[in-house]
Parts: sequence; C-alpha cells; structure tokens
Amino acid sequence: MAQSLGFPAPPAGLGKRPYPNLLRPMNDGPRKFGYAIVGLGKYAVNQILPAFAECEYAKVTALVSGDINKARRLGKHYGIEESHLYTYDNFDKIAQDPEVDAVYIILPNSLHADFTERSFRAGKHVLCEKPMAVTVEECQRMIAAGKKAGKKLMIGYRCHFDPVTHKAIELARTSIGKPQIITTDNGDNTDPTDPTYQWRLTRSLSGGGALMDLGIYGVNGSRYMLNEDPIEVQATIMPPSDPMFREIDETIVWIMKYRSGAVAHGSASFNVNAMSRFNLQGTDASLRMDPATSYWCNSVSHCTTGDTHTWSTPMFTIPALNQFSAQLDHLAISVANNTPLAATGEEGMQDVRLIQAMYQSAHSGSRPVSTDWGDWRKTI
Ligand code: NAD
Repeated sequence: MAQSLGFPAPPAGLGKRPYPNLLRPMNDGPRKFGYAIVGLGKYAVNQILPAFAECEYAKVTALVSGDINKARRLGKHYGIEESHLYTYDNFDKIAQDPEVDAVYIILPNSLHADFTERSFRAGKHVLCEKPMAVTVEECQRMIAAGKKAGKKLMIGYRCHFDPVTHKAIELARTSIGKPQIITTDNGDNTDPTDPTYQWRLTRSLSGGGALMDLGIYGVNGSRYMLNEDPIEVQATIMPPSDPMFREIDETIVWIMKYRSGAVAHGSASFNVNAMSRFNLQGTDASLRMDPATSYWCNSVSHCTTGDTHTWSTPMFTIPALNQFSAQLDHLAISVANNTPLAATGEEGMQDVRLIQAMYQSAHSGSRPVSTDWGDWRKTI
C-alpha cells in the first residue's frame, strides 16, 4: 500500500467529522488483527474475504455460518482450521478464541443488533455492516453494549475509505463556494430467485427496502459532504409495480433540508438498471460523481466555468485503493493506537434515525418530519 495518497488534510476548523488518515501506521508490533466473519453470503464471500489479501494489519482468523460445510470449504481456502469455525448456535464460544480480536457482522439487517451484543459479550470489537440495524432502539442497545464491554463499534461505510470520496469531500469543502443542492440516486434490479434479494424483500429481515439498502449511501453521503445534519425530511414511496415489493419500498424519493439553506434530494429503487450518482451544486462550482459508491472505479469531476457542459477532463484520476482492505485495516489501526473511528455507531444510528423519519413522512402523506434533534456529536 502506498504511504501517501497525496491528499491534503482538511482545513482546520472543519473537523466535526472524523477524516480518516487511511494509512496511519500501527504501533503494536507484527501480530495481525484477527477478524471472525459472521455470515458467509455474497458480500462476505465476494468482497470481504478476498480483500484480506491486501490488508497490512488485519487477517481473517475465524468463520461463522449456519452451514458448517460452507464454512469448511471457505476455511480450507483461507487457511482457517476447524477449531476456528463456528455456527450461529455455538457462536458464543468465540469468547475463548484468542485469534479473534473483532467480529465482522455481514448478516441480514435485522440480525445485526443481536450478533453485535453477543460479540461484545464475548469481549470482541465489532465491525457491523450498514444499515447498522432496523430500529433506533436497536442501535442504542448496540452502542450501550460496546460501551459496557469497553470495545469499539464501527459501521461498514466502505465509501469512507475510497480516495474518490475523500477527493470529493475536499473539493466540496474548499472549492465550490456555498453548497446549495445535492442530487443523489441509488438503485439496482432485484432477482427474486436469488437468496441475497429474498431477505431484502422481507420487512422482518431487512427493516425496509431500497432506502435502507441503497438509499442509505445518499443519506450518509449528503451529510458528510455538507458536514451538517438535516433539520427536516420528506419522502414519498411509489406504489409497488410487482407483488414481490409489497412489504418494502421498491422506489422512494426524498428531500433533506439543512439549516444552512442547502437541500438534498434523492431517490432509491430496487427496480432500475444500476445507478449510483451524487451531484453537488455550489454557488461557484459543481461536483459530479457517477458512479459514486461502486466497489471500484468511482469518479469525481468538477466544473467551475459556469458552463454546465465543461467538466474537468479527464476526471480526477486517483490511485486505486481497495476500500474493503482499507476499512478492515482501519479498525485494526484504531484499536492498536486508540485513534478515532471513521464510522462510529453514533454515525450509523443517525442514518437509521433519518431513514425512519423518511418512512414516517412517506406513511403520513409525505408530510415534512422535523429532524431538528440537536447536534448528536455533542451527546457522545
Ligand atoms: P446475502 O444474503 O448474500 O448474505 C447474508 C448471509 O446471511 C447468508 O450467508 C445467509 O445464509 C445468512 N443468514 C443468516 N441468517 C439468515 C436469515 N435468517 N435469513 C437470510 N439469510 C441469513 O446478503 P449480503 O448481500 O451479503 O448482505 C449482508 C449484509 O451486508 C447486509 O446488511 C447488507 O446491507 C450488507 N452489505 C453491504 C454492502 C456494502 O457495500 N457495504 C454490500 C452488500 C451487502
């Protein structure tokens, strides 16, 4: 991994939000930080497990699955012995596994809270996938359990480890004038025959649809880009086009209003060709990210001329950094050096709280819902 990405530190005074130094060195010697992966589904198998190959400070040391044969097959591939393979039922034995420093929870959303609490009871740190949980109460329980255990809780916002996101935040805060309008759209098609989509269509497992799963990128990204939290939200859920979407939001559009006068509006859908866009219009310049939140090859371009068609070309070319490996290393570094996390439980809870407010709006005739809850950072 390169030692510098060439990005300047954020200007002093901007800093309510953590701005992770992706490559801060560890100081606790050669032992790598061990992760147990809970849930061996698509994201775990296709993105996270292979990413350990590019980690400097982290390695996978245990696997947890409902299907022990799947765990064995993957264990063989990644050099993990039978004694470090667990099922959901005997998971609590992980407390006695010295090779496991942290548990990475990659399960359907409604299982995040329970496994986070069990992991903290086992004395492990936790990296939990987004969305953090399906209710604010669950998020509060997860945060409290981490505090009680004296362990760290990080949420899997991988884009915080993408240099393209960092470049966009730097431009947003230094060279667009006053941020005015954000437009962000996230969506994908649904294949109801694929198990990875089936739980997403089931409210009791997902907690919601397109907004919970994909729209959350736009919600979190807008807050980060503006360095501000919205004071009011509004949303509309479109009627489902197919019975498979009857329990959850297939397509939703939303607005977030900010005290500064900025406004973000977005959409999320489970029934569109893949989209991942983020545009920010400032008084002096514009930013365009498309794709904005893909696993690879995100891009940001910048337009300052007043001519909407003259974008920076080529788009900013930024050295590739494996978001997944950087995220895995980040928790290891944070634990070793006791440095702040880029994406805390409180950050994850704020997104869940805003999403719940959007659902409340959508279910009450799209009425505005106040989210002027004060600065949550002052309460932690
Ligand atoms: P998936 O369906 O492919 O995998 C989920 C795993 O959980 C499977 O192995 C499944 O067997 C297991 N599981 C355990 N109990 C289950 C139950 N009761 N019902 C259904 N499955 C059960 O899903 P995925 O795409 O890997 O998503 C898992 C989590 O990761 C979700 O929270 C999702 O939001 C998150 N995710 C994050 C990203 C990202 O970019 N950060 C990308 C994809 C998924």
